[in-house]
Amino acid sequence: MRFPLTLAKISFLIKKYQFSLNLPDGKRQMTEVLIIGGGVIGLSIARQLHKKGVRQITILERGRTGGEASGAAAGMLAAQAETNEADDFFYLCHDSNRLYPNFARELFDETGVDIELETSGTLYLAFTDSDEREIRHRFDWQRAAKLSVEHLSAENVRKLEPFVSPEVREALFFPNDWQVENRKLLAALQKYAALNQIEIIENAAVERLIIKNGKIVGAATANQTYAAETVVLATGAWTSLIKADGFSLPQVKPVRGQMICFQTAKRLFQRVIYSPRGYLVPRLDGRILIGATVEEVGFDKNTTASGTEFLRETALEIAPSLVNLSIADKWAGLRPFAADGLPVLGAFPEIENLFAATAHYRNGILLAPVTAEIMADKIVGKIESKYLKAFGPRRFQTAKAV
Ligand SMILES: Cc1cc2nc3c(=O)[nH]c(=O)nc-3n(C[C@H](O)[C@H](O)[C@H](O)COP(=O)(O)OP(=O)(O)OC[C@H]3O[C@@H](n4cnc5c(N)ncnc54)[C@H](O)[C@@H]3O)c2cc1C
Repeated sequence: MRFPLTLAKISFLIKKYQFSLNLPDGKRQMTEVLIIGGGVIGLSIARQLHKKGVRQITILERGRTGGEASGAAAGMLAAQAETNEADDFFYLCHDSNRLYPNFARELFDETGVDIELETSGTLYLAFTDSDEREIRHRFDWQRAAKLSVEHLSAENVRKLEPFVSPEVREALFFPNDWQVENRKLLAALQKYAALNQIEIIENAAVERLIIKNGKIVGAATANQTYAAETVVLATGAWTSLIKADGFSLPQVKPVRGQMICFQTAKRLFQRVIYSPRGYLVPRLDGRILIGATVEEVGFDKNTTASGTEFLRETALEIAPSLVNLSIADKWAGLRPFAADGLPVLGAFPEIENLFAATAHYRNGILLAPVTAEIMADKIVGKIESKYLKAFGPRRFQTAKAV
């Protein structure tokens, strides 16, 4: 029996035809989902969309994939060390942390890349009266929220980590704050893309979004137009620079973070160690990363002598025995910061099929798995996570109107 061609079928066939069409004059064939930005957020969303069955995914990256904040980060998964109360943001971080063991396992199975998830916990040290007040406040709200947190005496800190300064007064231990090697995470996500025909186009800086009759239809670089059914802005600190035909994108500004790195032959520390002034992240290969400055200097990614000195002092306060090590490497990256310091996730109500996943500020590595799940569920399944309401791109307007 022959079925008549229904409208839905005709529209499906037109789409199929468009997907395979190479358009002339600088226009490229239509893609199903166009992701702008090849950092950890764009790459993680691409993978999750692919796992949910989307087969036409293109990532446009203005520079090198993973070459911005995601490559500059320290890789801490610090839901408890980085938050100050049990609010939506804390639970978003917490949920993402919980996803990491499976995320790491799956990535290894899919790509053979070990992202070096280390679950040995995090120490948070106090050296001064004000540090002690800070950690006691943190201990109290986390205990009230029924989180795993332990109070340690100075003696017990030094039993765990013998190279920590004898000046330490007390500490908190967060068994569920971990770390990953974020550059390996980026390598795994890139490999997943390569193995699964997710197209990544580097050196392709999107200048403007193309919106027609209230619907996104693509994006344009200086010399190429990319037609797309759906567009995701995963553009980090550069989000506000894209033009959008009179439509305003969320304001996201860059906040520079400088890092330094020591190299040791043998691993000296077993876990991430914070103080209220900075942190030390020991990698498996003997590197010790020290971070990070917090500076509003626009899009300047240079390191500075004063930044380096501050980080060296931070390291020596935590572990004076590092004094004779020379700095093996240093770099800086730009954290994406929205007006309220919180991520911007979800759909733009006035533009059909345009989504944002940006402004992860200090926690984009931690938040990558949960962001990918929330965004893919929304794009593919129209599922509204509770977090989309809390972190939606239009929350700033609503706040103004009230
Ligand atoms: C020093 C430092 C330490 C950090 N440490 C940690 C940590 O320990 N744990 C943690 O969870 N987070 C950490 N962060 C934060 C984390 O790095 C960021 O939140 C995260 O990388 C953001 O990911 P992203 O993909 O949104 O941004 P990015 O990695 O910056 O990626 C955005 C990409 O979009 C591209 N892009 C922008 N505009 C366009 C355009 N118009 N066209 C095409 N491409 C475009 C950019 O080139 C860039 O590659 C740290 C950040 C810094 C700087």
